[in-house]
Amino acid sequence: MRIARTIEDLADMQAGALVPTMGALHAGHLDLVRIARGIAGTGAGRRPVIVSVFVNPTQFDDRADFARYPRDLARDAALAAQAGADAVFAPAVDVVYPPGADVPIGPIPDCAAGRGLEDEHRPGHFEGVCQVVRRLFVLTRCVSAVFGEKDWQQLQAVRAMSANERLGVSIIPGPTVREPDGLALSSRNVHLTPEERERARSLSRALRLAGAAETVADAERVLIETMREAGVGVNYATVRDAETLERLPASATPGDLDRPARALVAGRLGVVRLLDNMPWPISAG
Ligand code: AMP
Repeated sequence: MRIARTIEDLADMQAGALVPTMGALHAGHLDLVRIARGIAGTGAGRRPVIVSVFVNPTQFDDRADFARYPRDLARDAALAAQAGADAVFAPAVDVVYPPGADVPIGPIPDCAAGRGLEDEHRPGHFEGVCQVVRRLFVLTRCVSAVFGEKDWQQLQAVRAMSANERLGVSIIPGPTVREPDGLALSSRNVHLTPEERERARSLSRALRLAGAAETVADAERVLIETMREAGVGVNYATVRDAETLERLPASATPGDLDRPARALVAGRLGVVRLLDNMPWPISAG
């Protein structure tokens, strides 16, 4: 396992698959590493899997969130190695953004603007995400990159960006890994108090309940009510086109849809913002 800090440290290593993370690795990240290992091969012709660990300052609109973000590189490197990574790339800020170099921040794809989702609740977030992802693609020279479905709007944004800008990187989705009670794993969950942790179950519960609703409007009502009853401050709770993230008609039933739809929620519990999403509808069984 190599720990690379600089561009020179990666000079002889081109990523067959990159897993971009901000560290504080949990089982969700490690699943993405295993997916990357599968893509990059395990036998002859195996190509490197690189896990990047970089808490990107340009995607944080909240300085306190940036400051308290958990950091432990030795632990992350050991976990990444166990899951099959060949290298951890943990650059300093001035390696990603060299002083004086103009690392472009725009453009961002349509699905990452004007949607009333993360784009609205974290102004400037996707500009920062697109900026760092483009830069990590260049630095690791990756041919594919694995992103979690947990951050659904981010996954769609990166996919659209890679296609629109012909970056030549295949974007591979990884399913959301959850706690036994349904809570999606997140590095920020460590900041939940025991009482908030209990309330946090309401996001996945809301998504499952809404999955059986008959219309988009009913689903959105169920999402909001379930989260509010649990004391979650709702940022958004909505059913959208899964790829463009455009609104759907309130009266639309599952049978009216000719493209996949996705239910997405975000809310606040204390200092923690929680996100989750699931397909809509969810078929019984
Ligand atoms: P982060 O370190 O939180 O920026 O996340 C790095 C990558 O891990 C992103 O592609 C996330 O979507 C993904 N990820 C975060 N949480 C989970 C989870 N519970 N299951 C699967 N992937 C996840």
